[in-house]
Amino acid sequence: MSITLTDRPLFARYPGMYGVLPHVSLGTLPTPVERLQTLEQVLGVSDTRLYVKRDDLSGRPYGGNKVRKLEFLLARAAQQGYKEVLTFGGAGSNHALATGLYARQMGLQSISMLIPQPNAQGVRTNLLMSLHAGIELHQSPGMLRTALDSLKQVGLHKLRTGQFPYLIAPGGTSALGMVGFVNAAFELKEQIDHGELPEPDLIYAASGTMGTVVGLLLGLKAAGLKAKVAAVRVTEAQFSSERKAARLFRSTARLLHRADPAFPLLPFPAEDFLFVHDFYGEAYGLYTPEAMEAVRLLNDTSGLHLEGTYTGKTFAALLADVKANRLENKSALFWNTHNSQDFSGEIAGMDYHDLPAEFYRYFEEPVQPLDLLPH
Ligand SMILES: *Cc1c(COP(=O)(O)O)cnc(C)c1O
Repeated sequence: MSITLTDRPLFARYPGMYGVLPHVSLGTLPTPVERLQTLEQVLGVSDTRLYVKRDDLSGRPYGGNKVRKLEFLLARAAQQGYKEVLTFGGAGSNHALATGLYARQMGLQSISMLIPQPNAQGVRTNLLMSLHAGIELHQSPGMLRTALDSLKQVGLHKLRTGQFPYLIAPGGTSALGMVGFVNAAFELKEQIDHGELPEPDLIYAASGTMGTVVGLLLGLKAAGLKAKVAAVRVTEAQFSSERKAARLFRSTARLLHRADPAFPLLPFPAEDFLFVHDFYGEAYGLYTPEAMEAVRLLNDTSGLHLEGTYTGKTFAALLADVKANRLENKSALFWNTHNSQDFSGEIAGMDYHDLPAEFYRYFEEPVQPLDLLPH
């Protein structure tokens, strides 16, 4: 699981970072870029180019956006001699599941501290896959209780193993985790240079804990690309805000500048960061009719499978811009952050009663009404 200097475009561009930043090659990168030609035809746009960045294929056994961050975060945990990691998320957290799966690949145990979220089929499958992966699962009602229960678990694990677990922030969003998305922008730059797509004017991505959108923004500007980032907010303002974006941007730029002084200390490019609020709906994890319409349309025209918590809301924002003629003569890239690797075989026949009892309700209560598509 080691890499050569050129395996990640960020290291090729800034060799001083190599060996200074912790990194382990976990993902299957670069991810492909594809044109959404059938969708362009269905929408009747002859002067708009639509592309998708297939981060759904970013890794095995689990794709999506988290593996890019985990390449750095888990490398640090291992480098510092940790045996366990602890992280946070909603009950159906893709991040907590990805963390557990890749931690296990590296011989680390993981603990997920989860909070309740609206029920969906994806919540059920992620919980069962977490059980299958041997992840230790806890659910607490609300943020404050999660913080207290996490302290308790950290203490218990220290008593049991003699060592604290390595803490990973919600979504893997920290300066170090975000380096994965700075690298992703350099990866995109290489694909543009190779003629795989024209330079996009706009990149649409979900803004959950903001690591994806802000890491991309920093990487795009450092790579000299013109693209603006349309960050579609899918979480409450405490997780996703302009202030947080500027803070994360600066802390990641500083980290990279310290690792290799050739990396520029760029100012936050407010004019290139389009923060989109209109597709959030009523709550995190609660699907909206526009999001599910977007999920259906992309499924029918391209066979790609989105979901209602992140990518459906994001794609709905892109479609609304197409319909309002805001993308005329422009090229837009949709960053697909949702895993598409199938793990139904692994969880087939699993019994939810083997989960901690606080999770039974996701299997005994109906899923939310808009969650009608198979996953
Ligand atoms: C976590 C997640 C996001 C949000 O990424 P952040 O970096 O936390 O903003 C988007 N899409 C999917 C499918 C995710 O699991």
